[in-house]
Amino acid sequence: MSGTNLNGQHDQQWLKSIGINNSNPCWNLTASELAQETLRLNQGVLTDTKALAVDTGEFTGRSPKDKFIVLDDKTKDVIWWGDVNFQFDSKKFDALYNKVVNYLSGKKLYVRDSFACADKNYRLSIRVVTELPWSNLFANNLFIRPSKEELSSFNPEWTIINAPGFKAVASEDGTRQHNFTILNLTKKVILIGGSGYTGEIKKSIFTLLNYILPHEKGVLSMHCSANVGKTGDTAIFFGLSGTGKTTLSADPNRGLIGDDEHGWAEKTIFNFEGGCYAKCVNLSPEKEPEIYGAIKEGALLENVRFFPGTKKVNYDDISVTENTRVAYPINFINNAVEPSVGGIPKNIFFLTCDAFGVLPPISKLTTGQAMYNFISGYTAKVAGTEMGITEPTLTFSACFGKAFLPLHPTKYAELLGKKLNENKVNVWLVNTGWTGGAYGVGSRIKLSYTRALITAALNGELEKVQFETLPVFNLNFPTACPNVPAEILNPRNTWKDKDAYDAKANELAKSFVKNFQQYASAANVEILSAAPKLAVNA
Ligand code: ATP
Ligand code: MN
Repeated sequence: MSGTNLNGQHDQQWLKSIGINNSNPCWNLTASELAQETLRLNQGVLTDTKALAVDTGEFTGRSPKDKFIVLDDKTKDVIWWGDVNFQFDSKKFDALYNKVVNYLSGKKLYVRDSFACADKNYRLSIRVVTELPWSNLFANNLFIRPSKEELSSFNPEWTIINAPGFKAVASEDGTRQHNFTILNLTKKVILIGGSGYTGEIKKSIFTLLNYILPHEKGVLSMHCSANVGKTGDTAIFFGLSGTGKTTLSADPNRGLIGDDEHGWAEKTIFNFEGGCYAKCVNLSPEKEPEIYGAIKEGALLENVRFFPGTKKVNYDDISVTENTRVAYPINFINNAVEPSVGGIPKNIFFLTCDAFGVLPPISKLTTGQAMYNFISGYTAKVAGTEMGITEPTLTFSACFGKAFLPLHPTKYAELLGKKLNENKVNVWLVNTGWTGGAYGVGSRIKLSYTRALITAALNGELEKVQFETLPVFNLNFPTACPNVPAEILNPRNTWKDKDAYDAKANELAKSFVKNFQQYASAANVEILSAAPKLAVNA
């Protein structure tokens, strides 16, 4: 199955040029060939819907502490170094790179040519070299698949080398432990080792685009999903992991642009990717029919388990991890928009999974509040996507994606501020988290209610109703919405113990204020005045 590199350069030669010798490369295999390879190697099984199911091994989530950027002239004064972007010595990189390519030499490898960025003005060409066939299927599903013609003239600018079986020796190699994801912006190489978690592949390119687009092209890069209505109105949904980007962007009445990573250029919103990576925990055809239906031949399921004696997936079984996932090409969703580009958004939703149960299910933000909340990026991290998180934990993650920002958060906030001032956009804060009490007492708001609130915001139905203001957070929330019980719209109403609510609200407000201190010097009066106001005596 060793195909030829269609641009005429011989496979082996190209691999040799990057230091991989005597390997047996399989170039641009189809999804079905990659599934066959995986089955042959006993690394996966087919489900009753013919999706390929694999286990990703030791890692079932990203490992943010093991993501590095090589320190050199290009990066030293630009990158926001600290606890998101860890430095990696450039000599150590070269040494580790050599070890990895030696490790891969002589092996059967899977090579894939793909693109990122649906807007051709910003397109990135990426060659992905993987040790394992299913990692390659992930790249096929998540990145943009070139046409035959595009493949024939494919010229790789960036290279991802993915070697889950290679384990670093921290003391020698300069890593923190045996796994690593290292971005070398000068050599245009991303080196991934020791982890088979496929999310490392997509999020390393996201990190890269969060550098290139704002820094070199003046384009805002965003951790958000996007969809478009029948009248061409685009909506984007920012949110941290587990807040609902993928779930809520899959809407039968709207075209899907993308579920996770987008750019906002002068006149367009464009997807960076060519596929989706959806959570599977508790997935049901009733609640999430679009995603459920996408789990078919060609899709890649990760870390799921079957009903005993069958090949039917039990989505409630999270014995391997809460972070069970499926990766599929975007066209597996019926109303996907391809190329995945839309116009300037009319509505922006900030999704937050508030485990405190304090924020309203939906509220409409002023521009100052929008900026304040964007910079704050409040949510509760829910179990799963990151290793070590097992119950909801209060998090402030700037721009709803701090873990992926190579530049200081104010860079992205400035770009968003400019966009909000130049365009008429409604900004909504949606709490997809707890209602009726904090985590442990209350419950997660019903998905059907969140969907109805978003639909009403998009249809303009919320423009016709009265709003009230929530004290402390000064959030303006609607008092009525079709298909949603009015009494849940004010979160305080849903708590039995009102004093407990007030205390929690103050506690959360204090956390907001404390967290914002680090950004206060870069914020204007309008943004600063959007801070929550602590209640007297609190
Ligand atoms: P990631 O960045 O990790 O991909 P995400 O923002 O795309 O995360 P989703 O995959 O959409 O997150 O996950 C949201 C999860 O929460 C889904 O499993 C969904 O079923 C569940 N959920 C439960 N209640 C709600 C709600 N009210 N709104 C949104 N999602 C909900
Ligand atoms: Mn998602």
